[in-house]
Amino acid sequence: MQPAPFLGPKNLRLVTHCPLCRALFPTNKTNVLEEKENLRLIFAQCSACGGAMMALVSLNQGEANAVGLVIDLTKEEILKYRTYEAVTSDDVLAVHHALFEPYSLHN
Ligand SMILES: [Zn+2]
Repeated sequence: MQPAPFLGPKNLRLVTHCPLCRALFPTNKTNVLEEKENLRLIFAQCSACGGAMMALVSLNQGEANAVGLVIDLTKEEILKYRTYEAVTSDDVLAVHHALFEPYSLHN
């Protein structure tokens, strides 16, 4: 099955206003950073306050679902970090032990 055609940010009505200052997002500040099958990773930056958000939009049989986050990353940083491996619980424990083990009251 062919992925549904993406109509582009001009036709995207999911988030039209900045969640931080309520200014209208200009469409020329909205970018599709990545497209994979029915998924689109979208970045929008508010020209009024500089706030940014990214949204993961899935298009399936004419329906669009989206999850958006207010972020403090640039679109270049999103593209850089999206290929990094996820932080695991073992990573968190290792950092915790490195930071607090010498000062633990249980030693
Ligand atoms: Zn704003």
